[in-house]
Amino acid sequence: MRTKLVAGNWKMHGSLAANLALLTCVKNAAAGFKRELVECAVCVPFPYLAQARDALAGSPVALGAQNVSEHQQGAYTGEVAAAMLAEFGCRYVIIGHSERRTLYGENDALVAEKFAVALAAGLVPICCIGETLAEHEAGNTSAVVLRQLDAVITRSGVSALSLAVLAYEPVWAIGTGKTATPQQAQEVHALIRAHIGKSDEQVAAGVRILYGGSVKPGNAKDIFAMPDVDGGLIGGASLVADDFLAICAAA
Ligand code: PEP
Repeated sequence: MRTKLVAGNWKMHGSLAANLALLTCVKNAAAGFKRELVECAVCVPFPYLAQARDALAGSPVALGAQNVSEHQQGAYTGEVAAAMLAEFGCRYVIIGHSERRTLYGENDALVAEKFAVALAAGLVPICCIGETLAEHEAGNTSAVVLRQLDAVITRSGVSALSLAVLAYEPVWAIGTGKTATPQQAQEVHALIRAHIGKSDEQVAAGVRILYGGSVKPGNAKDIFAMPDVDGGLIGGASLVADDFLAICAAA
């Protein structure tokens, strides 16, 4: 059985005081979750990694970052290396979020490189794939999602997916309040799993595929009930302790 994962993506939000309140609530509530059923993680901005690591010490809540350099080290001003994230206690790193692809021009090749570098440092990449509204309306969802996935498989090999997490995030549902229906999500998740299965059935059966895009306490249960949905990547709702915890409880 695949253990569900609910990962919060704080994006560029937070302050030392607000983080402490949020992390304390999450830590306390997560102590009561059954670990074999659900794993929780928070992916915080770089400057707050140390604070989050310390605040979550002794808790099952995992720590993650939201981006990583494709380089291992060197003269790359402003970049953060995967080894640095590992040193700060990160288990996860989000790769290829649509905001990085759209706002910062990250293409499939760069995302695949970041994926490989994260794995090499012992991190678990949460690799985001998903189509824009225009691609969705043009009926290109499958082509886009599989193209993004294949870039990673071509670079790192299909077996690398057993060390990673995928997140299907339709771009039109991120931060918009529009959610894919549970059936729409299931359809794409099943397609992703079947595609991986053509190369390796065992990897396909084991890889966790999260759904992301306006998941809230009110819709989480139905989405997570789908057989190929293994949890969620949560943006806005991960900043509100009660909402994030309700979503974790739904998983
Ligand atoms: C995200 O940023 O990955 C996300 C899914 O955001 P939201 O939940 O706010 O749509």
